[in-house]
Formats: sequence, C-alpha cells, structure tokens
Amino acid sequence: MEAALADSGWRLRAGFELEWVVVVPGADGTPQAVLPGGPYGADRLIEGLDYASALLKALDEAEVPWLQFHPEYGPSQFELSFAPDRSLTVADHLIRARLVIQRVTRRFGWYSSFSAKPRLDWVGNGGHLHLSVLHDQGPILQGGQGIHGLKPEGEALIAGLLEQLPSLMALASPSPVSYLRLVPSSWSAPFQVWGVENREAALRLVPSAADGCDAHLEIKAVDPTTNPYLLLGALQAQVKAALERPRVLPPAQIGDPAAAPGSSARRLPSSLLEARDALAADHVLEAAMGPLLHGSLLDSLAAEIQRVQQLQVEDQVSGCCWWPLVGGLA
Ligand code: GLU
Ligand code: MG
Repeated sequence: MEAALADSGWRLRAGFELEWVVVVPGADGTPQAVLPGGPYGADRLIEGLDYASALLKALDEAEVPWLQFHPEYGPSQFELSFAPDRSLTVADHLIRARLVIQRVTRRFGWYSSFSAKPRLDWVGNGGHLHLSVLHDQGPILQGGQGIHGLKPEGEALIAGLLEQLPSLMALASPSPVSYLRLVPSSWSAPFQVWGVENREAALRLVPSAADGCDAHLEIKAVDPTTNPYLLLGALQAQVKAALERPRVLPPAQIGDPAAAPGSSARRLPSSLLEARDALAADHVLEAAMGPLLHGSLLDSLAAEIQRVQQLQVEDQVSGCCWWPLVGGLA
C-alpha cells in the first residue's frame, strides 16, 4: 500500500498514541486501579515514578521512539505518544511498545489492560492515530489558500477520509467492546465530523501553529486492539482514493455534536456489526486487500460478533478486560 501510494506521488506519515490502565484483579476479578492520583495529575506521576522510570528506560532500550508520557484522565490510566514515521515502522513500534509495557508492568506485580473498555464505569483506552500526507511540494494540510491554510489536496484528503471512515472502523476499533468506548462526550469522537482542534470530532485537524509540528489529522476512532498493519495498509488505500479527485470539504464541526441541540452530525458505526457491514460494502478496501484477505477478515469479524451475541454487556467487558491476555488471568 505504501508503494502504491508512492506511485501516485503521495507519502503517509503516521504516529500512534497508546492508552492503557495499570491494574490488578479485585476479589470478583474486576480490574482495580493500583496507582492513585487524579486525572492528568502530577500526584499520579509521583506515585508511579518508579514504574514510569523503568518503563521509559525499557522503551529506550527497545528503541521505541516515544514523544510524551503522561497520566491520563481515567483511574490508573497512562498514555504514550510515539514519534511519526512511515507506516511499517510505526506499526512495529506500536507492537513492540505493547510488549514492553506488558512486561515492565508485570515486573511490578501489576497487569496492563489495553482493552478499549477495561471497566464499564471507566473511560476507555484509545489508540488515536495521527497522520499527515506529503507530496513533492511538501505537506498538503498547510501552506495553502484554503480554510485553515489547507491546500485543495488537503481538503480532498479530509473530505475523502471522513466519507470512508465507517469502513475503516472495522480495523480501527475491531473488538465488540470497542463500541462501548465510542460513545458521545468521552473524547472518543463517535460522530462522522471533522473539526479544528476539536476533541469530539472523529477527524481532528491540528494546525501547525498548535504544536509546532507539521499540520496533521488525528483519527480518534482507533483503540489499542487494532492490528496496526491492517489499519495502516487500509488507511493508505483510503488516502489514495481520497486524493484521486478534488472534493468539497463539509463545514467543520464546532464543539461537541452531542451537546448541540438539533445537530445533524451522523454517528459512526455504533457496533462491530455496523462496522463490518461498512467494510463488506467497501470496494476500495476490497480491491486493496484482495478478495481473500477482505473475505477472511469479514468471516473472522462475523465469528466474533456471533460469539458475543448472547453475552450481556458486563460479560463482554469482563471477558476482554485483560486484553491482550486471551482467556483472561485464569
Ligand atoms: N481515553 C479517551 C479515548 O477513549 C481519550 C482521551 C484523550 O486523549 O483525549 O479515546
Ligand atoms: Mg489520551
């Protein structure tokens, strides 16, 4: 997909953010927070200083280039953001980081959960994906005459990705519990809208002025259960399709669509079943993957949907709260 995109003159740069919770099982098996401290609090950083030091040292030794480590909003929740690079490199880094985090956390006698929804009463774990696209004349999301400095190609990219986002979700949020995370007003951005610096927009444009980096987009509907190789392969096929022709950019979403009375913002798929249906109908991804991969992904998604069909939501959450430990702690 990287080569196909390069043939059309484009290059993708991407970078993941990864959230997880540090927990132990309580008497009833429910994950319990082990590190006290408030949302985004320095108190949690101090309580977790030995853990953070060991983890960041191990990531350095494993040559995973991380940009920022911080205590997240949820109880005992942390986040790392990784440096942007070409797709295969950042996919490797994400997998390696997940392994390092698991092993370092176990050294402290704790567990790391990367489940999109480790507990029903906790905010979820996201795995947001940042991306920018370059061509020979440089980045396309800045330096243009369009709204917020977008070039026409930048506008086509946002409009085209937004249109194709429902089918990407089967890869970006591939667990049944992913859709318990993707609820309004929880910074997981479940509406099919874009916005500038809007944390409730599924596609968030971060202009270069915001953080001194090149302007980039953030896709929020990604969680840590994604297979980054499939996701980035599919994304590059969608980038190529988005840039095949000029597109009209819909108006940017201001504020939280859930808080805007009468908002016409469309919800993204709200279940794995709906996401699978979107992937099944997507001819761009079918052509990019080939019928064998596309078909076998649809089959495995159908099997997973059927497996959880009779389960209560509570059982779905507890069944995968120790992800990626398959079968839990038993
Ligand atoms: N934990 C939130 C999620 O589920 C994201 C919080 C944030 O980074 O804004 O995606
Ligand atoms: Mg975060």
